[in-house]
Amino acid sequence: MGTPIKGMGNPEVPKVDFGPCCFCNREIEHTGADPCTVTVETGDGRWQVWRCHASCFRERVFSREDGMFDPAHF
Ligand SMILES: [Zn+2]
Repeated sequence: MGTPIKGMGNPEVPKVDFGPCCFCNREIEHTGADPCTVTVETGDGRWQVWRCHASCFRERVFSREDGMFDPAHF
C-alpha cells in the first residue's frame, strides 16, 4: 500500500542547485557520491527531501556490527 504518485499536492518545486548540506551547512560540490539526496517519508505518506554530503550521512548513521544501516553505495 502506498501513494502511487509521490509529490502530488506538494506545491514546492525542487530547487535546481544543490544548496548546503543539511548536516554541516557547507556547500556541496558534485564529486563522487555527492550530493546525496535524503528522502524521508512519514507514516502518513508525506515526504521531504534534503541534500547532504555522503561523508556527513555516513558519520551520523548508526553503525551496527551486522552493517544493517550501512549505506550500500558510498
Ligand atoms: Zn556535509
